[in-house]
Amino acid sequence: MAMSRSENMARIKSKDTQPELVVRRAIHAMGYRFRLHSGKLPGKPDLVFPSRRKVIFVHGCFWHQHAHCMEGRVPKSRQDYWIPKLAKTKSRDSENISAIEALGWKCLVIWECNVEEARFADVIRAFLDSPL
Ligand SMILES: [Zn+2]
Repeated sequence: MAMSRSENMARIKSKDTQPELVVRRAIHAMGYRFRLHSGKLPGKPDLVFPSRRKVIFVHGCFWHQHAHCMEGRVPKSRQDYWIPKLAKTKSRDSENISAIEALGWKCLVIWECNVEEARFADVIRAFLDSPL
């Protein structure tokens, strides 16, 4: 039985996902320094820039339900399982972002599809270099 890409992605949920590594290397090469998965902030952001009070999340389009994205669609099968599960992840994401912002930090979400298309460097630079 062939698996769709989303189903396949769902099986390899891990902490050091490939898009995250790509983003990390790129940001490091741009000269920014950061910490990883800081447990001090809600949702353990993937990249934390303490002196700038900014964080970056690298989100998989499927798990985090990227709006208007092909990979962000709920699978057609087992919707009774997927809809609540994915909705929970999405609401937890927005709660985490609100909580981080309430602490006076700024958040940026980089989506997996933008990483694949290498469309993130300018967004990251603008985010990190902007005043709080
Ligand atoms: Zn996407």
